[in-house]
Amino acid sequence: MAMRVVRTIADLRALLRTLREKGQRIGFVPTMGFLHEGHGALIRQSAARCDATVVSIFVNPNQFGPGEDLASYPRDLERDQSLCLETGASVLFIPEDAEIYPTGFQTHVEPGQLAEPLCGRFRPGHFRGVATVVAKLFSIVQPDLAFFGQKDYQQAIVIRRMVRDLNMPVDVVVVPTVREADGLALSSRNTYLDEKGRKRALSINHGLQAAREAFEGGERSAARLLEIVQGPLSHSKSGVTRVQYLELVDAQTLEPVQGTVDRTVALCVAAYVGSTRLIDNVILAPAADEAGLNVSLSPQRV
Ligand code: AMP
Repeated sequence: MAMRVVRTIADLRALLRTLREKGQRIGFVPTMGFLHEGHGALIRQSAARCDATVVSIFVNPNQFGPGEDLASYPRDLERDQSLCLETGASVLFIPEDAEIYPTGFQTHVEPGQLAEPLCGRFRPGHFRGVATVVAKLFSIVQPDLAFFGQKDYQQAIVIRRMVRDLNMPVDVVVVPTVREADGLALSSRNTYLDEKGRKRALSINHGLQAAREAFEGGERSAARLLEIVQGPLSHSKSGVTRVQYLELVDAQTLEPVQGTVDRTVALCVAAYVGSTRLIDNVILAPAADEAGLNVSLSPQRV
């Protein structure tokens, strides 16, 4: 099927109705555009598991705080269209702001405790904005499956909770983080980094990988694992300007884990390289725990 580009909710609904009438299973990948192979992995998984895949591109103003990069968020619709086509998308939904937030809009989804720690602490209102737009998009697309990246781990957990709490009939699939060959997590915001900044950003992954190796070698002290990540980050030559947070949390509840790590945890970092804010994480699972998480732990490389 050729890929269709749709800009209004009415057109999208009409198109999806015909697909559903044919009994097609709909997959959905919400994005903010400036797509890369991380998004590509989500689209490919959806295309493999569903009959039709809807990708949305919408830079959601409601999830950016004052002073964040809403105005400068990178855009390249032409390249995005090619990537969607190559990776197997069937429908590309590119709404205008007013299509999603018409005059008078005033109803929001307020996530609970899962939205408070980590990014939530430094980006007040961010997950409220994310949950609201994703709820709206789910209501518009009505997908059977929706695909989210592990790179934004807290986001995936908040959305999964929302789906359960509000009885939304969609399965949330979390796809492992796609990385450059040298380990840097792909992100649309990497485009803000110059060559030097890119090298500096690598220390985030170096720290996380060192902690993963230590964990695999049997290290179970939460404090020690955090120190191991901190090492490359605080090394003067790494040049990471400021670590915003570095936390070891329960992978399901996102509550801090102290003492001995005896369950699946997420080791999460947010750091500024210059003025660019980057996030990354690894999931550390005692072998017996892996199955329950629905997050494949094998890293992917492009
Ligand atoms: P964004 O366009 O940044 O809002 O991201 C859209 C979706 O792509 C989210 O579910 C992200 O978690 C996911 N994503 C972004 N970067 C990556 C990556 N490197 N690997 C896997 N998924 C990603």
